[in-house]
Amino acid sequence: MSRNFPSRVDVAIVGSGPTGAAYARVLSELRPDLDLVTFEVGPLLADPPGLHVKNIVDAEERAAAQRRSEGPGALGAEDRRLRRAGTYLLPEGFQQPGEDGIPSLAMSSNVGGMGAHWTAACPRPGDSEVIPFIDDLDELLDEAGRLLGVSSHAFDDAPFADEVRARLASIFDDSRPTGRKVQPMPLAVQTHDDGRVTWSGSDVVYGEATRTNPRHTLVPEALVRQLRVHDGTVTGVVVRDLVDGSDHEVEAGQVVVAADGVRTPQLLWASGIRPRALGRYLNDQSQVIFAARLRDVSPRDAAQGEEPGKPAIAWQSGVSWVPFTDAEPFHGQVMQLDASPVPLAADDVVEPGSIVGLGWFCAKELQETDRLEFDDDRTDSYGMPAIRVHYTLTDGDRATLDGAREMVKRAALALGDPLDAEPITLPAGASLHYQGTVRMGPVDDGTSVCDPRSRVWGVDALRVAGNGVIPTSTACNPTLTSVALAVAGARDLATTYPKKEGSQP
Ligand code: FAD
Repeated sequence: MSRNFPSRVDVAIVGSGPTGAAYARVLSELRPDLDLVTFEVGPLLADPPGLHVKNIVDAEERAAAQRRSEGPGALGAEDRRLRRAGTYLLPEGFQQPGEDGIPSLAMSSNVGGMGAHWTAACPRPGDSEVIPFIDDLDELLDEAGRLLGVSSHAFDDAPFADEVRARLASIFDDSRPTGRKVQPMPLAVQTHDDGRVTWSGSDVVYGEATRTNPRHTLVPEALVRQLRVHDGTVTGVVVRDLVDGSDHEVEAGQVVVAADGVRTPQLLWASGIRPRALGRYLNDQSQVIFAARLRDVSPRDAAQGEEPGKPAIAWQSGVSWVPFTDAEPFHGQVMQLDASPVPLAADDVVEPGSIVGLGWFCAKELQETDRLEFDDDRTDSYGMPAIRVHYTLTDGDRATLDGAREMVKRAALALGDPLDAEPITLPAGASLHYQGTVRMGPVDDGTSVCDPRSRVWGVDALRVAGNGVIPTSTACNPTLTSVALAVAGARDLATTYPKKEGSQP
C-alpha cells in the first residue's frame, strides 16, 4: 500500500479485482525480481486489501464499505433500476432506441473490485462454454481454483442439501454425462475450524506471496487515464492521484489492464488502441429467478438472520449446481433464498432453510453488433470516454429464455411448492457477467482483441484481463475462467519478460 507513484516499474497492473490480483500473485511467485505496481481507482475498504465485504463483522462498517465501492456520480434512489449493494450502474447510454440495452450494467470501484461483493460461485465451463483453442484450460482452471480458494465441500453439513440435490437429480441427471450431473456448487469460501465461513476476495488471490513481496505496490484511488504508446509498444501509463488531483507518468516494461469488462476496452479506446473487435461481441447472461418452499422438510434450529462470518444463506440447504450442457444450455444454481440476489418474497415468513431461490443463467448468441461504444467528446464521472451500449436479444435468445423459464419451473416443482405462478426474468445486466469486449482468439482476424495468452494483437507489452477476455458464449459464472486466463497470461509474462541483471535464474 502506498501513495508513492513510481517513475518506472517492470509491470503496471490496472485494477485490483480477482484477475488483476492473479497477475500480481503469479508474478510475485514466479518473478520476485520484478518491480510491480497495481493502480486501483477505488478506495481501500479494509485490511487485508481486497477483503470480501461479507467478512467485515460490523454491519454498519460493512454497509459503509459497500457505499464506498459505488463510484462517483452514482444515481440516487430515484433511479429504479435493479442494482446490487457495492455496485453502481451506468447512469446513461445503457439503452438505445429500438434495442434491448443493458439497463442494469454495473461496476464496482474499490480495492478488490466486484470480487469484494461477489457470491463466489466458481463452476467450471462445460461443452461449448469451453474455450476450444486453450489446450491447458483444465490445468489453468485448477490453478485458478487454488488462487481463489475454491471448495465444493464448504457446506457439506447443510442438513437439506442432499435432499435438494436428490430432488434436482431425479429430473435432470438421467440424460447427463458424468461431471455435468447435479452437484454441490464449487464456492470460493473457506470454512474455519471454529465453524466460521469466510468469502474469498482479492485478498485470498493476492495471498502472502504478494503481500510480502517488497517489490509489489498497490496504490488505491489512482485512476489510470491513458496508456502511453510509442511505435506500437506500450511504454507506461498516465495515472491521476484522486486524492490530490495530480497526474503522474509511470514508465512500465509491460502493462496489464484488468479494469473489468466495461472499463478495460474504455481505457484502450482512451489510449488510441482501437482494434476492430474492441468493445464488440458484448454478452451478458440473461437470468431467470424463482423460489420454492421445500416440500416435506422440517424446519431446523437454524441461524436467524445473518451472523457475521456465519451467513444463514447456505446453512440449511447449501448451494447446488445444475451444470450447463449443450442439450440444456443453462447454468442453474439453487440456494437458500436469503442468498438470492433479489428478495422474491419480502413479506414471506421464511422458515430457515425451507425456502430456496433458483437462478437460471442463459448463454447468449454472440453478435458483433452487440457492443460498447466510447465517446471522444463526452466523458463519464471519472473523466473517461462516455460509454454507450448497443445490445439486442436475438429470436434465439428469447427462445433460450423461454427454455430457462420452463426448466426453472420444473426444478421448483421437483423441490416443492413454487412461491409464485411464474418465474421472474431479471433486467439485462443483472448477471454482473459482462464478457467478450476484449475477447481472445486463436488468430488475428479482426474478431478478437488478444491472443490466447491475453497479449493485445498488434501492440507490444500490453495484456488484457477479466471477463471481457472470454470468447465463448457462456452461462456459467465467469470468474474462475477469467482468473484461469489471467494465470496463463501471467505465466507467459513471467517466462518471456527479460531477466534482470544480477537476478537469480
Ligand atoms: P473487477 O472485480 O470488476 O475489478 C476491476 C477493477 O478495476 C475495479 O476495482 C475497478 O475499480 C478497477 N478499475 C477500472 N478502471 C480503472 C482505471 N482506469 N484505473 C484504475 N483502476 C480501474 N462472478 C462469479 O464468477 N461468481 C459469482 O457468484 C459472482 N457473483 C457476483 C455477485 C455480485 C453481487 C457481484 C457484484 C459480482 C458477482 N460476480 C460473480 C462477478 C465477479 O465479481 C466478477 O466476475 C469479478 O470480480 C471480475 O474480476 P475482474 O478482476 O475482472 O474485475
